[in-house]
Amino acid sequence: MTSADCLFCKIVAGEIPATLVAETADTVAFRDINAQAPTHVLVIPREHHRDIAAMAAADPCLTGRLAADAAAVAAQDGLTGFRLVFNTGAEVGQSVFHVHGHVLGGREFRWPPG
Ligand code: AMP
Repeated sequence: MTSADCLFCKIVAGEIPATLVAETADTVAFRDINAQAPTHVLVIPREHHRDIAAMAAADPCLTGRLAADAAAVAAQDGLTGFRLVFNTGAEVGQSVFHVHGHVLGGREFRWPPG
C-alpha cells in the first residue's frame, strides 16, 4: 500500500535520498532533515497510513512493532531516555501525511510541549 504523491513513500522506495539509520521488514528510520535535537529520527512504516490513529486502527501489531523499532533507534544512538512524538492532524503540526514517529533525545526537554 503506497500513495503516489507521498514524500515518505518515495523515501521508502529509495526515490528520494535520506540518511537511513535503521531498516526492518516493516519500518524505515532516517534522520529528520530539520533536526530539533541531537537525535531526531523519523521512524515510519513501509506501508502508507496517513497517521498513527489510522495505522493503529488498521494494524495494531504493526503499530507495536513501530514503537519497538523507535526504541531500538534510541538505544542505537545511546539514549537512555527519549521522546516519541506522533503529530496527528494539521492542527497540531502534522505536515507529512504518512505516519511517522519523531524519536527525539540528547538534550533537555520541557513539559508541556509548546
Ligand atoms: P510533522 O510536522 O510531524 O509531519 O513532521 C514532518 C517532519 O518531516 C519534519 O520534522 C520535517 O523536518 C521532516 N522532513 C520533511 N522532509 C524530509 C526529508 N526529505 N527527509 C527527512 N525529513 C524530512
